[in-house]
Amino acid sequence: MNPVDDLVRLCAGQRVFVLVGAGCSTESGIPDYRGPGTLQRARNPIQYRAFISDPAQRRRYWARSAVGWPAVGSAQPNPAHRALAGFEQLGLTPGIVTQNVDGLHQAAGSREIVELHGALREVICLRCGAIEPRAEMQRRIESLNGPIPDLARQMAALAPDGDAEIDPGSSFQVPDCRTCGGTLKPNVVFFGENVPRERVELCYRWLAESTAVLVVGSSLTVFSGYRFVKRAHERALPIGIVNLGPTRADALATLCIDGRAGTVLPSLLSQLARSRGET
Ligand code: NAD
Repeated sequence: MNPVDDLVRLCAGQRVFVLVGAGCSTESGIPDYRGPGTLQRARNPIQYRAFISDPAQRRRYWARSAVGWPAVGSAQPNPAHRALAGFEQLGLTPGIVTQNVDGLHQAAGSREIVELHGALREVICLRCGAIEPRAEMQRRIESLNGPIPDLARQMAALAPDGDAEIDPGSSFQVPDCRTCGGTLKPNVVFFGENVPRERVELCYRWLAESTAVLVVGSSLTVFSGYRFVKRAHERALPIGIVNLGPTRADALATLCIDGRAGTVLPSLLSQLARSRGET
């Protein structure tokens, strides 16, 4: 029996709470943190307190972000994102709860989304709260520091093994808020920072009206996503997981499919649509 058939049965006729992680976007070229092959290049992500309190850490964050942003900013949704948008169009879910910060669900056409950890496409001023598009911040970084390819070369020279901790040095300049001159931060939740309460409450409301749970491409190592699966298990909801490799919640799940989101989800969607006569 094809495991996707079991997942179809788990989701059919249900209102499905969908929780997504970085594994949904690896097929769009954005690496995850804890997939097969990623552990050896995992780095310690910046902590909120370090970013807030240390200008050198902020400089380092923004220099690396300036080099990394073009790849994230130009990434395109893959079949998994499009299948999840189809879930919403068929009325199968109250919405997508994503731990991703890449904006690819919107690009695929999803409308009801909670971006649990915020959005990289925005930059927020820590003093006045003004929001600026990340693309605009990139232009301002380039106008202060020169073209990004030059910066990338300079940083690669600082990291001869090509994958070491890099320090752009004190010459790198970080733009301030255009409105008040305050410190800017990407509008994402850093490690050591809390997810805003109203975001979490909306997820719990969606979970309360759901009758099944689908986890896609998340190791569930991070508690802010894991807690919803835990709550679903307490409510005895059926839980399906589509993930390459193990997750923290495998023991709570009704069904675990060790497969690629971009393959499993389109197949799931087309079978669910067919079972409702909407092919
Ligand atoms: P994670 O890296 O801990 O886990 C991702 C899981 O997805 C891994 O188990 C991996 O094996 C699996 N996976 C990889 N490719 C897959 C595929 N094609 N199909 C199915 N599974 C696949 O990710 P997480 O649980 O989301 O936690 C990481 C944290 O880092 C999140 O809080 C997130 O905000 C952040 N993050 C976001 C992005 C993004 O926005 N795309 C990328 C990296 C990290």
